[in-house]
Amino acid sequence: MSGVNEIRSAFLDYFAKNGHEKVSSSPLVPRNDPTLMFVNAGMVQFKNVFTGEEKRPYSTAATSQKCVRAGGKHNDLDNVGYTARHHTFFEMLGNFSFGDYFKDRAIELAWTLITKEFGLPKDKLLVTVYADDDEAAALWRKIAGLSDDRIIRIGTSDNFWTMGETGPCGPCSEIFYDHGEGIPGGPPGSPDEDGDRFIEIWNLVFMQYEQMAGGERVDLPRPSIDTGMGLERIAAVLQGVHDNYDIDLFRILIEAVENTIGSRAEGNQTASHRVIADHLRSAAFLIADGVLPSNEGRGYVLRRIMRRAMRHARLLGAREPVLFKLLPTLVGEMGRAYPELGRGEALISETLKLEERRFLQTLDRGLSLLADATEGMDAGQKLSGETAFKLYDTYGFPLDLTQDALRQRGIAVDLDAFNTAMARQKAEARKSWVGSGEAATEKVWFPIRERVGATEFLGYDTEEASASVA
Ligand code: ATP
Ligand code: MG
Ligand code: MG
Ligand code: MG
Repeated sequence: MSGVNEIRSAFLDYFAKNGHEKVSSSPLVPRNDPTLMFVNAGMVQFKNVFTGEEKRPYSTAATSQKCVRAGGKHNDLDNVGYTARHHTFFEMLGNFSFGDYFKDRAIELAWTLITKEFGLPKDKLLVTVYADDDEAAALWRKIAGLSDDRIIRIGTSDNFWTMGETGPCGPCSEIFYDHGEGIPGGPPGSPDEDGDRFIEIWNLVFMQYEQMAGGERVDLPRPSIDTGMGLERIAAVLQGVHDNYDIDLFRILIEAVENTIGSRAEGNQTASHRVIADHLRSAAFLIADGVLPSNEGRGYVLRRIMRRAMRHARLLGAREPVLFKLLPTLVGEMGRAYPELGRGEALISETLKLEERRFLQTLDRGLSLLADATEGMDAGQKLSGETAFKLYDTYGFPLDLTQDALRQRGIAVDLDAFNTAMARQKAEARKSWVGSGEAATEKVWFPIRERVGATEFLGYDTEEASASVA
């Protein structure tokens, strides 16, 4: 059985052996891309190479890319702890061809890796292709010998990738692993495809068109390849476990949580252990890449992640800061592959501890307010927006933390009322700002910034702007 560190190396070595340049992961904060909150796929660092704006001394590459999907178009925050396959931070293994090889070689490379090198049985695998991509379907038949019932045609955007409104785009083909009967969920394209029986392990993107501004789509002269495979998902398959959180790395992290807090990852405590292990990774890697907790933009996403983890630690009985105590275990497991973790360890540790101390001052009071406000409530009922706003404003509860806290009881938050309260406060803050003299600047401005800074943040798409309001 191989651990994640060996699987990562095996992937990179395999593609190096096949002529690919090994390229390091880029930092999580995208360079020169204000439209994107965090790097969320391996191709991000190569965007300009795909469009031809930038030249590199190689035409094929392989990476293990740090990704965060907790805000923006891809937001898996609410999946963590509830699905077997989602993290907020994960590593995406990818191979890339910049106008070099195309579909046939990409399929051959992927199939050989998973069935020959990794030894996965063919009868556990199935693939999807874009509905009209006859070429890809034929290649899967020829190269992999898959029968037609294992090549599923999907006509949705899930299987058609675009870089943006314009630019390179093309059909995808995804490889799924069947974890077996007994696990709820249907094959891709079926009504219950969101279950966790058939897990998507690898996405192959065939960039073959360019989307023009006028709506026209033209063939790219030199089509390209972009692929992404979740390291934790392939590790689960190779380690014979169904769930990402049962792989070696997560077992070690979860054990550290158990020992530090003195709780067992059993029954309804399991989700909390998973959330803490997951959020520890995203928080540590984000801080290592220069993000610090704040009330707006990227820093607010980090703060939300940290505070969610802290609430779960509190649920498990922790009364003192714990995240920083888990850090050495993470550095021990991942520090060799990502030296920035070790280099940043002191800063990460201090940042975690400080944020935990600060939030612990209001967490308990906020939780008891929440308990009082929802006493006797049943599933389907809503927490008042005023209360959610008070929790946000006075107790430092990001909206999604409150929602997360109520989720298992099936209680939602009255979002309209929450937004109204937020808007009212913004308006009031503006009024007192105008009316105040110079001496009041610090007294007024800093608390306002603390409270409403997040709402000023409109740099990303609307979804991200509203997420940062939360
Ligand atoms: P899913 O449908 O399971 O949410 P996706 O289609 O959003 O996955 P892609 O955008 O195609 O994922 O990313 C490429 C690969 O990265 C996926 O096939 C999967 O192996 C991995 N991956 C994506 N999101 C996550 C995540 N949140 N946690 C762990 N691995 C992920
Ligand atoms: Mg997804
Ligand atoms: Mg998918
Ligand atoms: Mg996908």
